[in-house]
Amino acid sequence: MNTELPEDPQRRRLRERLEVIQIRTDKASSWRDAVRPLRFLLNREGFVPIKTRLASTDLDFLEASRDDLLAFSELSLRLIDLHQPRDAGGITSDTAHPILRCRSCMWRWPCPTFRAITEAFSIGHDMGS
Ligand SMILES: [Zn+2]
Repeated sequence: MNTELPEDPQRRRLRERLEVIQIRTDKASSWRDAVRPLRFLLNREGFVPIKTRLASTDLDFLEASRDDLLAFSELSLRLIDLHQPRDAGGITSDTAHPILRCRSCMWRWPCPTFRAITEAFSIGHDMGS
């Protein structure tokens, strides 16, 4: 028997918006390899005149990518502001390495939210040793 609560409409809309961004981005061509040689063609005004073939999926991505990336970076910055470590207090035998908990969700640090963000951006966690 499924005992899960029905998904909150706001959460469902957010999930749908994020899935649209994910699919649109995945369908677009990667510019990583194409950009490298173009850097050598920058003119004095700081521009590279290019001719390229863009698929409709690329246009979909380019049309929305700036807004999407601004939204993602804003979201990520807000999340890492919310999810920060704090001293959990209590008695510990290791005063140099006190137990830390997330001040927002109270999980032991690093909390699942912070770990998900660092994994998404491939940022390793330094335990400060
Ligand atoms: Zn947290």
